[in-house]
Amino acid sequence: MIVDAHVHLKHGDVYRTEYSPETIVETMNGAGIDLSIVFAISTTTRRSIEMALEARRKFPERLIPFVYALPSYERPVIEELRYAIVDLGFKGIKIHAGECSLAEYIIDPVISLAENLKVPCLIDCVGRHLDIKRIAECFPNAKIIVAHFGKYLCEDEGLIDKFMSLAEAHENIYLDTSGVLLTHKIREAAEKVGSNRIVFGTDGPQREPDTVSFTIKEVRKIKSLNLKTEDEENILGRTILEILGI
Ligand SMILES: [Zn+2]
Repeated sequence: MIVDAHVHLKHGDVYRTEYSPETIVETMNGAGIDLSIVFAISTTTRRSIEMALEARRKFPERLIPFVYALPSYERPVIEELRYAIVDLGFKGIKIHAGECSLAEYIIDPVISLAENLKVPCLIDCVGRHLDIKRIAECFPNAKIIVAHFGKYLCEDEGLIDKFMSLAEAHENIYLDTSGVLLTHKIREAAEKVGSNRIVFGTDGPQREPDTVSFTIKEVRKIKSLNLKTEDEENILGRTILEILGI
């Protein structure tokens, strides 16, 4: 069973690329992915609910919806998040520090809600390890999945080490393999932190070179580490299924 824990219906790239549920499932079929967590970013929380809801309606056996938290002064989103999780059955919350602050007064109500409702938060913290440290300490029962091992396409080994140390110190921190260039750090994390705290993700779809090849490359990234079978199975699916209670 391979689960991709990081798939965009809408990306945060400069082009704000969108991918249909059909394209995502075709990509999964081509790359041998069984389940994907899907979400939209760079949009409102309400629109992210609509997009992920449509995706799950079309492919309820393949796509797991997360809701995008975009707290703002203009409109409180906590009730929308609660509605998506409690009434619509969404399985988690996506947070992107590129688009909203991780300051206490902005993000803590979101993390608190996730903790109370027992759903994980997938956070792209854009390298801000001190914010993750604070959140993990303040909300010990919230499951925090740190996208990209801390920073997308990071080549600074020292920064990744900071996130690995945080994960070693806090059992509620998980690390997502999408956008990790220094792949030997994934093996190191499996040894130091444990494969039961690492989740596979692609940050797809990506059109370069094409969506299927990109996703296959990400799966191979894990398989080429030649981990113990149990560790490989944990990273490729079991850990995220455990987090989601599936
Ligand atoms: Zn992403």
